[in-house]
Amino acid sequence: MRFDVLTIFPEMFEAITQYGVTSRAFSKEILHLKTWNPRDFTSDPRKTVDDRAYGGGPGMVMMVGPLEDALQAVQEDIASSSAMKKGPTVLMSPQGRVFNQDLAKEMSQLEQITFVCGRYEAVDQRFIERHVDFELSIGDYVVSGGELPALVVMDSLIRLMPNVLGDANSAQQDSFSDGLLDCPHYTRPENYKNFLVPGVLLGGHHGRIESWRRNESLIATQKSRPDLILAARKKGLLSLKDEKVLQEYLETLASGLNK
Ligand code: SAH
Repeated sequence: MRFDVLTIFPEMFEAITQYGVTSRAFSKEILHLKTWNPRDFTSDPRKTVDDRAYGGGPGMVMMVGPLEDALQAVQEDIASSSAMKKGPTVLMSPQGRVFNQDLAKEMSQLEQITFVCGRYEAVDQRFIERHVDFELSIGDYVVSGGELPALVVMDSLIRLMPNVLGDANSAQQDSFSDGLLDCPHYTRPENYKNFLVPGVLLGGHHGRIESWRRNESLIATQKSRPDLILAARKKGLLSLKDEKVLQEYLETLASGLNK
């Protein structure tokens, strides 16, 4: 897989290429990342990539020219250096589709993705209309640039790549992979200041542990993300046993409230 990134802050991408499990994908060369700075595609001495907005108002707008030329260079580089076909151009933007684990799975199948990181108030709409295949948001809030959002998306795609996480099953056990949140986890010591690890996890009985984890996942999801329970139910991901666990949980909750 290959990521190309249009950004005026290329150093920020060291956060995934140099640290933690994501860096493994790069050292094993199963993933390549190349940054392209729009400032290198300007012709004025100040390397200007932004200008005031037509119509007035606060904030600057990223100019279409340097972005378009940088994207052209990506296209040429891919065409000349590999048999790979250029994949989608994705603009990080609060106006985009909200990213989630289903989208991560879909995007992790792609061979190449070009991420465009906005800065300032906006990106000139003509660049978006001419070149962007889709816009992607990391949630309903605004950060100062597209770099952190692009890093978030890339990191979640990298976790899904084979041979990146130590244990091949880790990603499958993550929150959202089966439509539910993850269950609680514990490590040594068994007794920490009289706070004990749940006994079932110490018993070594595989079936009981699995069932405990599933139940805890269901309850955690019902507690903080009931919308995910509704979605999982709609998709047919909940068994009769799951439904019973949820019902019992809701009943204990109701009886607690009635007391
Ligand atoms: N004026 C814009 C925000 C600009 S923030 C608005 O109100 O929508 C500057 C850049 O940060 C954006 O161009 C985008 O690339 C990035 N960005 C900010 N919030 C984001 C989010 N939630 N998801 C993805 N990218 C975001």
